[in-house]
Amino acid sequence: MNVYDGQRIAAMLEQHGFTQTEDVTDADLIILNTCAVRAKATDKVYSALGRIRRAKKPNALLGIVGCVARESGADAFKRIPELNFVLGPQSYHKLPEILKNPDTKLLNIDLGGLEKFDELPQTTKSPVVAYIPIQEGCNHCCTYCIVPYTRGRELSRPFDDVIHDTINAAKTGAIEICFLGQNVNGYKYTDEKGKLFKLSDLICETAKLPEIQRIRFTSSYPTEMSDDLIEMFGIEPKLLPFLNMPIQSGSPRILKKMNRPDDIDTYKTIIKKLKTVRPDIQISSDFIVGFPDETDEDFAETLRIARDIKYINSYSFKYSPRPHTAAAIMPNQISEQIKSVRLQQLDNQLNENQREFNISCIGKEMICLCEGDDKTGRNLVFRTPYMQQCIVEKPDYKITALQKIKITDANKASLRGEIIK
Ligand code: SF4
Repeated sequence: MNVYDGQRIAAMLEQHGFTQTEDVTDADLIILNTCAVRAKATDKVYSALGRIRRAKKPNALLGIVGCVARESGADAFKRIPELNFVLGPQSYHKLPEILKNPDTKLLNIDLGGLEKFDELPQTTKSPVVAYIPIQEGCNHCCTYCIVPYTRGRELSRPFDDVIHDTINAAKTGAIEICFLGQNVNGYKYTDEKGKLFKLSDLICETAKLPEIQRIRFTSSYPTEMSDDLIEMFGIEPKLLPFLNMPIQSGSPRILKKMNRPDDIDTYKTIIKKLKTVRPDIQISSDFIVGFPDETDEDFAETLRIARDIKYINSYSFKYSPRPHTAAAIMPNQISEQIKSVRLQQLDNQLNENQREFNISCIGKEMICLCEGDDKTGRNLVFRTPYMQQCIVEKPDYKITALQKIKITDANKASLRGEIIK
């Protein structure tokens, strides 16, 4: 979501005559687009601001946008007096106001709904993978999560607006569309005639665009995986065989405390249905270890489900208490030391899953998407349909972005392959 927001901010500033620089000492305007999902991310924002305020030109404007801005509000100005603006994730389209009045302090952390999407300019050049937000906010209120506070209640964008953005992305260079939302599979929009549109409708309509060859979406809430959406994996070949469907914990007791779906059998049934319609589908998850009151037995259940489901490409984090959340004041908070031990154990399991899956791909041929050069400039980085990174030696002829690649080698982190002419 922040990548998308960053692209829209850049497009908006281009209209005001700005160009991008990587050099903070050269910038006239510096914006940190921020994430507040963990305390560490928030701390990093303030330490970066501390460095930037010393390095920047005296007249350069400095501001934060996104979830830390919403979380901090006016306090941000007290902590960093050099800040010129603090704009929440739904008000960064107000940025031009500070350009008109650079001597003021601009604070806007309102939850303005979907207004920003109407006011921001369309991008004129899309990357090969275009991120398209389809909804913002979340109604689920997981007890550890700050998102309902920073991004507000769940709102789905009008179907026609999303399709308009998708067509624009296709016409300006995108080959893959990634639909975004905090609760992306909960997308529901009813038009003025009363017709209901769901995520499966967006996928069907997008798949009709000849330029778009790959479609995916993130992040999914388990119990919002409706049958029509599961069916899409069986009937729409452009929908990638990869799904991020976070479970967070393998313990029903902890899931209940998290206010998450706690019926593990239902979760497993959804995966079974997905595998029935798309046998090669791979599942990824997010995990939180060390949630308040998590016992060794609870954690053992998390390890067990990570092993049983054979998740790939997953994210695991130590529980981090966030302001405005119920879990932050729950009793029996877990020590950092125990969290670290559990995280290491879980990471070992997830790494082993990834290594096994990567090795199972050796010898297979897959259509992969080229994302550009690697750091050396001698190789190309491709993304497989299962979101693995695949390194391929750069050919001495021009290629198109989608190529058939034969996988020749693999380790935990990535694959190696060669282009099949
Ligand atoms: S579903 Fe996701 S975004 Fe919504 S409250 Fe839970 S963790 Fe946060």
